[in-house]
Amino acid sequence: MCSVAVRMSVRSSMAVSPEVPMLVAEDVHRQFEGIHAVDGVSLEVPRGKITGLIGPNGAGKSTFLAVLAGTLPASGGRVVFEGEDITRLPAYGRARRGLVRTFQLPSEFARLTVLENLLVAAPKNRGDSLFGALMGRRYWIQDEERLVDEARRLLRRFGMGAKESDYAGLMSGGQKRLIEIMRALMLHPRCLLLDEPMSGVHPRIVEEIQHYLESLRAEGLTIVMVEHELRLVEQLCDSVFVMAQGKLIGSGTMASLRRQREIVDAYLVG
Ligand code: ADP
Ligand code: MG
Repeated sequence: MCSVAVRMSVRSSMAVSPEVPMLVAEDVHRQFEGIHAVDGVSLEVPRGKITGLIGPNGAGKSTFLAVLAGTLPASGGRVVFEGEDITRLPAYGRARRGLVRTFQLPSEFARLTVLENLLVAAPKNRGDSLFGALMGRRYWIQDEERLVDEARRLLRRFGMGAKESDYAGLMSGGQKRLIEIMRALMLHPRCLLLDEPMSGVHPRIVEEIQHYLESLRAEGLTIVMVEHELRLVEQLCDSVFVMAQGKLIGSGTMASLRRQREIVDAYLVG
């Protein structure tokens, strides 16, 4: 039952050849009044894997994720998603194509219920169009019911079925992270960009989130994840990119990165 729910959440990408990388950054720059937050990053995100993005505070990881997702425009360079140049596409257009991000700080709607938080993320239903409105309630109510069913399946899968009517603002740090991930899944992503999904989370829930991310990968979802905790990165990520001062300074498995002197000096400790 669980896998049925998520098979519905993870969109198939049969139309695009598996040879085409999921996501490509080409010489991406982002400046803030003289600060080169992202300074010429080029990389390819492989399909169906969990890719880690690590680096010290201020390295530019969140900014880079924002430029990939379109929540911040690039100052230079290109972003290509499934072979299509999306550099000028706004975030909602990217989300519609299957590229969806979450935020470093929880961004739940505190005064909506947990279920409503998932529903507001869902793509607009037919009732929102003039045609839908003219056709009447019976026409679009099916969409609403379908979305409520989908949200409930996700809540059950993520162990939050009993919380659907509680205010999101009352949830724990870990539950807010899960809400964030479920909201992203309501958009049926093919590629999910997660900014520190485990931060502020109780260790027991960290393990749960880890397990959920692994099962999403098993169902074909591509995940890019900024994460501070290197032990988690080692366990979860198939490969890792390292950023420092806006630049990419290395990539590979965590084990191979630990063997590279300049990366250890720049960032890794122990
Ligand atoms: P990280 O996520 O790796 O900690 P950030 O991407 O948040 O790094 O920040 C990279 C650099 O860009 C930092 O020097 C930060 O102060 C700066 N920066 C980030 N966002 C903004 C902003 N909205 N305005 C100005 N400077 C910013
Ligand atoms: Mg950050």
